[in-house]
Amino acid sequence: MILMHKGYERSVADYAEAVKVIPGGVNSPVRAFKSVKMNPVFIERGFGSRIVDVDGNEYIDYICSWGPLILGHAHPSVVQAIKETAEKGTSFGAPTELETRMAGLVTERMPSVDIVRMVNSGTEATMSALRLARAYTKRNKILKFEGSYHGHSDSLLIKAGSGVATLGLPDSPGVPENTAQHTLTVPYNDLDSVQMAFDKFGEEIAAVIVEPVAGNMGVVPPQPGFLEGLREITQQYGALLIFDEVMTGFRVGYYSAQGKYHITPDLTTMGKVIGGGLPVGAYGGKREIMEMIAPTGPVYQAGTLSGNPLAMAAGYATLSEMNPAAYAELERKGKRLEEGLRKNALEAGIPHHINRVGSMVCLFFTGENVISYTQAKQSDTDRFAEYFRLMLEEGIFLPPSQFEGMFLSMAHTDEDIERTIEANRRALMKLTK
Ligand code: PMP
Repeated sequence: MILMHKGYERSVADYAEAVKVIPGGVNSPVRAFKSVKMNPVFIERGFGSRIVDVDGNEYIDYICSWGPLILGHAHPSVVQAIKETAEKGTSFGAPTELETRMAGLVTERMPSVDIVRMVNSGTEATMSALRLARAYTKRNKILKFEGSYHGHSDSLLIKAGSGVATLGLPDSPGVPENTAQHTLTVPYNDLDSVQMAFDKFGEEIAAVIVEPVAGNMGVVPPQPGFLEGLREITQQYGALLIFDEVMTGFRVGYYSAQGKYHITPDLTTMGKVIGGGLPVGAYGGKREIMEMIAPTGPVYQAGTLSGNPLAMAAGYATLSEMNPAAYAELERKGKRLEEGLRKNALEAGIPHHINRVGSMVCLFFTGENVISYTQAKQSDTDRFAEYFRLMLEEGIFLPPSQFEGMFLSMAHTDEDIERTIEANRRALMKLTK
């Protein structure tokens, strides 16, 4: 059943108002819908797998707040936990038992994490983990991968220099060149390049930071041996391995990506699902390293709202609902969606490549295999933009970029998935060939 799309009149008016008082009308750039070339859609409310925009259009939502909402929108136990907690006060700046309970749950589920510090965003988590890695190793350089995103701190907002194993360049004005000089960038899934970087700068590299499943260039799984290779090389050179599990943490499996791929990183950064839709990040790892943070050690890091009761309550309620059977359910639904999309693309004769890890799914408009950013960039982004707009009219809300994956939640029903596959079939047929 497809309801008629009611248009975007009120979203257009809302956007015109928003740009008067907010840069670009949005508080995070991707929300401006630039890459899909349309007015951003303003959301009024969400429930389960659905969101409703200000014009009254209802959509099946595959953004899920860019990952956090693994239970869907306004899950009753999350809402109840927030309400009950809020009634007792929203922030104290003093320790609470809830923080210890939450840390206990995180250390139980993240195999490599002995102790964990809560912060307020993924950006804070990665920024703090890098400071800690630099302090621990007494080295300055870090190595990251092309097409990976680890938040917007200066050291991580770096693009690749020209040629492999060269020093990075600022990706944004405002990032000092001498900061960029400390960040090396190499292609994802390319161990030879990692080895070359270590051959050249091995004694200076404090850490390798990696998304164990890349989720910021579409969805790109690690090739067999890639993560193992990173573990080996870092160990060999005395550098730390940081898994950025802000996106994959508590999403790709009960024991996250590190459990799924059986790798023990030294430090792990977290965010998104761990906050159940409230602003949270976290970083944790080996006790010996983590205890270098203040107040046990000299590495400074603090936060007025860190470990915020509402955020802890929402996160705890979310993780409590997620047992191994829930991840198996997400896997089953993800697989069905993947198969449906592939069948449709084949029938429509559209060059495509689909990558999926559990509930993270990406349809690339390229016929090539995608294991790195260079390959992801081969995708036809104009075609994606057209596809995105057609899907929106069909009542399916996709992430508005070719370089982001779809997120499934526990609230997505089998019927939602079948409806999405049907909508996808019609949209692919309508695409300009
Ligand atoms: N790391 C990864 C892997 C991410 O996907 C993101 C956000 N998409 C971040 C870090 C930054 O998190 P935040 O937006 O909460 O600062």
